[in-house]
Amino acid sequence: MAVVDGAEEAGRIGLAVLQAGGPAIDGVTDAIVALEDDPRMNAGTGSRLRIDGRAQMDASIMTDDLEAGAVAAIEYVKNPILVARKVMETPHILLVGPDAVRFARRMGFRRYDPVTAEAIQRWKESLEKIRKGDLPPYARKWMAFKDLVGTVGAVARDSEGRFCAGSSTGGTAFMMPGRVGDSPILGAGIYCGPAGAVSVTGTGEEILRRVLSKFVYDRMAGGRRTQAACDEGLRLYKRTVPIGIIAVGRDGAAEACNRSMAWWTNAPAKSARRNRIA
Ligand code: ASP
Repeated sequence: MAVVDGAEEAGRIGLAVLQAGGPAIDGVTDAIVALEDDPRMNAGTGSRLRIDGRAQMDASIMTDDLEAGAVAAIEYVKNPILVARKVMETPHILLVGPDAVRFARRMGFRRYDPVTAEAIQRWKESLEKIRKGDLPPYARKWMAFKDLVGTVGAVARDSEGRFCAGSSTGGTAFMMPGRVGDSPILGAGIYCGPAGAVSVTGTGEEILRRVLSKFVYDRMAGGRRTQAACDEGLRLYKRTVPIGIIAVGRDGAAEACNRSMAWWTNAPAKSARRNRIA
């Protein structure tokens, strides 16, 4: 898959931070910035477009002391994850839409257009499909997409054993303006606590319905191995619903997915399947 090298490069950027003794939150942030800046990923530069042609992005970050920051439907910023991290410094957790953009500007994030020629091409193809009524049943309900095309996420455990989870996305195909998926919602797209960190990708509405990240986290907190917890989370879904999960716990890192998902880790859990980059 084309994005494999991007996942590995971002993983190595995050790992370098941890190996230098940096905190998990910096490792996750730097890895996600690298992924947002990779135009092949559906996050930051290269984000998918809404049906009205705009890029509205979601991002979140959470640490094991339950501190968190998130933005939803934010426009014209380069790195939504950096704005989410700034939200962490306010009394709030989630800022949305134009007010999130205004907050970003106040915090010094310059206007940046993340729309790429490739994203415009995909958007035109989507519009054509809508015009022709050439949509799979799920898209008629405006709620799904064909495959996991690049929401980005990262989880980390630092040398002091602290955890952090993060996520960033341009959303999915056939999205109405203003739609917010799972990625900026704690417990859905990400969760982090003393037992570990979880970040997921897939059909946002389905992830929201089952509060997937918290489901996986709760199993880890209950003593399940990280791999077993991810597998249990995946089993909540029929195979027709695209889902990908990454997590790190005290026994290492694990993943579970029912589509190809580029991922990279230096720390497979003992029970993990082959440490694979799909
Ligand atoms: N979960 C994201 C969303 O629904 C999409 C994805 O993971 O690809 O916004």
